[in-house]
Amino acid sequence: MALRLFSKVRVIPDLRNAAFASSAAAPAELSDFDMQHKSPVIRKQQLIPKAHYGGRHAVTMLPGGGIGPECMGYVRDIFRYIGAPVDFEVVDIDPTMDNDDDVQYAITTIKRNGVGLKGNIETKSEAAYVTSRNVALRNELDMYAYVLHCKSFIGVPTRHKDIDIHIIRQNTEGEYAMLEHESVRGVVESMKVVTASNSERVARFAFEFAKKNGRKKVTTVHKANIMKLSDGLFLETSRRMAEEYPEIEHNDMIIDNCCMQLVAKPHQFDVMLMTNLYGSIVSNVVCGLLGGAGLLSGRNYGDHYAVFEPGTRNTGTAIAGKNIANPIAMINASIDMLEHLGHHFHAGLLRRAVNKTVNIDRVLTPDVGGSNSSSEVVDSIIGNIGKS
Ligand code: ADP
Ligand code: MG
Repeated sequence: MALRLFSKVRVIPDLRNAAFASSAAAPAELSDFDMQHKSPVIRKQQLIPKAHYGGRHAVTMLPGGGIGPECMGYVRDIFRYIGAPVDFEVVDIDPTMDNDDDVQYAITTIKRNGVGLKGNIETKSEAAYVTSRNVALRNELDMYAYVLHCKSFIGVPTRHKDIDIHIIRQNTEGEYAMLEHESVRGVVESMKVVTASNSERVARFAFEFAKKNGRKKVTTVHKANIMKLSDGLFLETSRRMAEEYPEIEHNDMIIDNCCMQLVAKPHQFDVMLMTNLYGSIVSNVVCGLLGGAGLLSGRNYGDHYAVFEPGTRNTGTAIAGKNIANPIAMINASIDMLEHLGHHFHAGLLRRAVNKTVNIDRVLTPDVGGSNSSSEVVDSIIGNIGKS
């Protein structure tokens, strides 16, 4: 077993570490200029053997802020009820801290467990050197691909029916490089970093994903007419990759037209491949078409770790503690996680119960046109376990 685990270890060339090595300057030395430092590197992963005791899995749970903790509470209630063989290791991250000790600890536990379930972590500090914890987590675990399956729910009233799109988003660089500086007072530069290696592996991920899931088409979304070098590299890489998959149709679309096409004619899309920020925007557009932030789940994948979370990554601070947040997104994330761990029986049990609650019984929270509270939705799901 140990042998098999370690034979999987691949040393990833740390090309860009060298390029960004000088970015370790302390912010205190830069009193006049605000700078952010978080190199969007492909991390060398120090692997820790995965914890797996007698058929049970340990999973890191990061409740995050806003509605995260209450949604995690629902997941735990449901998992207890169905006897899901998962033990959660809960790590709370203090959003007011200026250092990243909590995040580093969370990263260590995900390395140990291999898998995480998370809400959206807040970063309250306004100091520029305190960067987003969510981004830091994805970057440091090198989870370079994000997958969002956008499939219509028949029980949720929407303008378009039968949408079934997979969004594959580059998850660790691009516009989220977090390399900003004020070069001279009043002039702020923000680097969008696109690398051949990350573009290639996310493109490979998208085409392999399409092939394995019987999908017909991949659409690369970009703005290569303006960002000719960065988006140009991303687009060219995906075009080259497409040649290796002649059975899958490939086309490309400029991000602005893509948003218009999505709201007007969403059925033309199958698998969509894009850089980080476009991925965030397009995800929110499609989630909006399907019923909002409270339904869909998203999956972060790297070569070694996987983290599951609500698809639009919202904090939901304004609706926290009111028993009105839609719990479905987090519950769907927990189902994705069960499937990833190979607990198909429990995943299927829960998926069928969610389907009955949302699409047949239509026990829904106000954000998707219902009048039920969060806990009523959860009670309905628990009541539907094993009944469908
Ligand atoms: P962000 O975290 O990006 O700042 P918000 O937390 O403001 O975004 O969420 C965006 C919108 O989506 C808000 O109107 C919020 O109430 C809504 N929202 C987010 N998550 C849920 C949920 N689970 N159920 C219902 N509404 C939600
Ligand atoms: Mg928020």
